[in-house]
Amino acid sequence: MTSYPKINARRLLQRIADFATIGATPAGGVNRQALSIGDRTARRRLAELAVARGFNVHQDAIANLFIRREGRDPSSPPVLIGSHLDSQPTGGRFDGALGTLSAFEVLEALEDTGVDTERSVEVVSWTNEEGSRFSPGCMGSMAFIGAGDIAGWQDTRGTDGARLGDELAATLKALPEARMRPVGHAVSAFVEVHIEQGPVLERAGIPIGLVTGVQGTRWLVVSFSGEAAHAGTTPLEFRKDPMAAAVAAIAQLQLVVMPADPMARLTVGRMSVEPSSVNVIPSRVTFTIDIRHPQEDVLSSIEAQIDAECRASATHHMVEVHIEKHFDLAPGKFDVAIVDVIDNACERLGVSNMKLVSGAFHDALFVSKVAPTAMIFVPCRDGISHNEAEFVTSEHIEIGAKVLLETALSLARGPILNAP
Ligand SMILES: [Zn+2]
Repeated sequence: MTSYPKINARRLLQRIADFATIGATPAGGVNRQALSIGDRTARRRLAELAVARGFNVHQDAIANLFIRREGRDPSSPPVLIGSHLDSQPTGGRFDGALGTLSAFEVLEALEDTGVDTERSVEVVSWTNEEGSRFSPGCMGSMAFIGAGDIAGWQDTRGTDGARLGDELAATLKALPEARMRPVGHAVSAFVEVHIEQGPVLERAGIPIGLVTGVQGTRWLVVSFSGEAAHAGTTPLEFRKDPMAAAVAAIAQLQLVVMPADPMARLTVGRMSVEPSSVNVIPSRVTFTIDIRHPQEDVLSSIEAQIDAECRASATHHMVEVHIEKHFDLAPGKFDVAIVDVIDNACERLGVSNMKLVSGAFHDALFVSKVAPTAMIFVPCRDGISHNEAEFVTSEHIEIGAKVLLETALSLARGPILNAP
């Protein structure tokens, strides 16, 4: 009789520390941007570990990396677990790597005990989740679900001037042992472990977040145009001051949008002023608004509110306003059945958890369009992420991996949730 598979926490913690040396920054983070030499090195290391354990290694044309432990029925769609290995230029060691290496630990734990699963279990490392070097982010998962344009992306230039097509080819070549497979295949479920990247779990003192969905995001660019004039000689009634209009509109939106709905987010993160001179009333003030909410209809009503407030302010200050939408990502809902499987896994392990909605988008949001998907969040210190100071406790890393193992076992044994 085989014993029940167990997470080897020491091995997992050591591995996270090892991978953090690839692209390590002096401040303790990592710079392992997509398709860079660091990214390639991390992929190489994972593939070598996989081959050493007898797992099959595959990659596709956008360099998504898959490591497969065969189930009793190889024709059945696999259970997919994993995250990404690329990072922001001054990223933390846990964003992405935690989910990918926890998933690999699950595969090793299954192998350690020789347990048979009905379905195969595959670890995935999605290509270019971060989008910091090559835009857009989540390229790998987008391509996987058929929403990407791999041919069109080839001539994309990175922030360092590198051509994506060249870097992609070099990345694929770095893993000669990986068998090529077509982009996108049927999977029975996808589960991604990730750090929360926010403060909710830590503040609540709860080690596991059951992520029920990802909030939608819209980016608006608002431009108020008035009339440049002398700061000293122009009395109030002659001013067409776009700054006065912008400030009033922003202040009003800050007063009404978030206080009225705790799920709503509104951020003005970038502003430009023309001509930007100390003694000139500006001719134009342009700023961005990032709005987020888990419900599409609420996002639309916030957008309508922004439109109304900006127009009212423009009229009041005798200036023109122009609003453009630059980005619109619909909210995503994760699969209730998969969330339940994770919930049950937590219950069997005696791990407390809470349901939450992700404030950031992830590869799982894209995969959820084609397969039953959910995410498991673990707390990160002070909610800090995309930062070299990002930190997760060993205890939370271990709990996250245990919940993932228990979840993957249920999914790999249970009924097929998504027939191919
Ligand atoms: Zn991430």
